[in-house]
Amino acid sequence: MTDLCFPSFHASSTLEAAEQGGIVAAIMADAPLTCPGQDPSVSDLLAVRPALSMHAVDGLVLEDVPLNAIADALGTPTWVMSAGTLRARYRRLATAFEGTDTPVSIHFAVKANDHLAVLRVLAAEGAGADVVSGGELRRAMAAGIPACRIVFSGVGKTADEMRLALRAGIAQINVESAEELDLLSAVAVDEGLDAPVALRINPDVDAGTHAKITTGLATNKFGIPYNRAADLYAHAAALPGIRAVGLAMHIGSQITRMQPYRTAYAKLAELVRTIRARGLAVDVLDCGGGLGISYRDESEGAPEALASAIHTELGDLGTRLAIEPGRWLAGPAGVLLSTVILRKSGYDGMPPFLVLDAAMNDLMRPSLYDAWHGILPLSPTEAFAPVEQVHVVGPVCESGDTFGHDRSLPHMKAGSRLALLDCGAYGMVMSSTYNARPLAAQVMVDGNRWSVIRDRQQTEALWAADRIPEWVDTALLPAGGGL
Ligand SMILES: *Cc1c(COP(=O)(O)O)cnc(C)c1O
Repeated sequence: MTDLCFPSFHASSTLEAAEQGGIVAAIMADAPLTCPGQDPSVSDLLAVRPALSMHAVDGLVLEDVPLNAIADALGTPTWVMSAGTLRARYRRLATAFEGTDTPVSIHFAVKANDHLAVLRVLAAEGAGADVVSGGELRRAMAAGIPACRIVFSGVGKTADEMRLALRAGIAQINVESAEELDLLSAVAVDEGLDAPVALRINPDVDAGTHAKITTGLATNKFGIPYNRAADLYAHAAALPGIRAVGLAMHIGSQITRMQPYRTAYAKLAELVRTIRARGLAVDVLDCGGGLGISYRDESEGAPEALASAIHTELGDLGTRLAIEPGRWLAGPAGVLLSTVILRKSGYDGMPPFLVLDAAMNDLMRPSLYDAWHGILPLSPTEAFAPVEQVHVVGPVCESGDTFGHDRSLPHMKAGSRLALLDCGAYGMVMSSTYNARPLAAQVMVDGNRWSVIRDRQQTEALWAADRIPEWVDTALLPAGGGL
């Protein structure tokens, strides 16, 4: 495979030329539908995604696997995870924390991507897991992560989930309320076991991220109010069946600036000192997840900066430390392959719609969070075709089924294939079968190998668990059929 030398007519070089030569007007007059610089260009997107490259013959390649080969074999929509990217990111994160003298254990947030193969790749690198349900706990264990490396978070654990976790020998349960603490105490006593508990504190710090992924504000449902935490810790330490081991915090997701972390960790440190002054031990500080990635052109959260913030604020307390990254590890490792079903013309003068065979039921983030995902054509000729303004939508019967409004993308047509980028976290895990759309196939790539890691769901499987009561059946079937 030969690397394609980027031709000179993609958006960023047009923009550079415009900035250097003052020829903006000429370019605008020439190509009124092109807005240079508005969206990152194909080469901008490729430049910061080392696992992806555009080859002259094979088109878009992930690690060493042409994505067209996968789409040829399996059709679309299909998720593709890069094992090499997962490993590389895990190693960068682990290395960032090795650089400081405070050892940190890394618990992958399973809710970001719960596929067994993904969990196994990360576990082989040394990751533990952070789970938020009994199902995730069982998934993590099924992937080979021992319970003693798993932390159980979440605002509403049922007694059954607590029982499951305690019987398995869970490393730590992050408790989010006084009420939950009482329930856990009762369950643990009933089981004759001790529950290792960290209290999750709500520090009332604005993570500066999207409202739906902010979790550390007083108005959010998560965590224990800061001013009640010390009292509750003392209460926990005295409760039967509870072993109070430490404190936990998770202020939100897609955080790229360090200041919110620093503020929150400083409050955590103060709380540790308050609790210790009461003669109680605090051995573990769980610093949560939330480190952000670069979806568009924002700068990615740097693990080295996070490590330094944790070291500065919490490093001298003599506790064990833990983090719970999800998105940062898995997000950039996945793409969603899709095919343009058709190009639908818009109203006069309005951008056309590219209607994809992927939809909000597959990738929900754009409709849920207005999330921006990079889009790259799989074809090498299309990748550097002239850029136009388009709306990119799915076929589901909701206006929210939109991947991008007014996107500047290289010209694509019916049958063109593309990859939606950075779908490895909060992608497949949020899929539904809305509009009776079967769950998409999943593939894992590793070097030049690739394997199907989940078969495309059979359409019949959609109603395999449906039961029609007899009393519905006989009453409503028309004798002669037809409308
Ligand atoms: C969602 C979540 C995480 C992971 O968040 P990311 O933004 O994916 O890193 C970690 N801890 C808890 C408690 C969570 O709810």
